[in-house]
Amino acid sequence: MAREGERFKIKGYSPTTQTGDRSSPGLTGRPWLSIWFNCCSAYARIYRNAAGTMYEGRCPRCGGRVRALVGPNGATRRVFETE
Ligand SMILES: [Zn+2]
Repeated sequence: MAREGERFKIKGYSPTTQTGDRSSPGLTGRPWLSIWFNCCSAYARIYRNAAGTMYEGRCPRCGGRVRALVGPNGATRRVFETE
């Protein structure tokens, strides 16, 4: 079991390889990534933070934290999974 506040890495995620949807910030709401949490076999969305630098969220079941850098090309609507 993961401990409260444990931080996960996202498998295969790299901000430099994000293709981006090039939508303008603020027009389509907060960008998000869909994350499959292998720790608990659960899906959740993580949302871009207020500063626009990271996607941040938590596993809905164990509360483990996950973060992902925002790439230079903006948000993508892709599904990732934790390691
Ligand atoms: Zn979990």
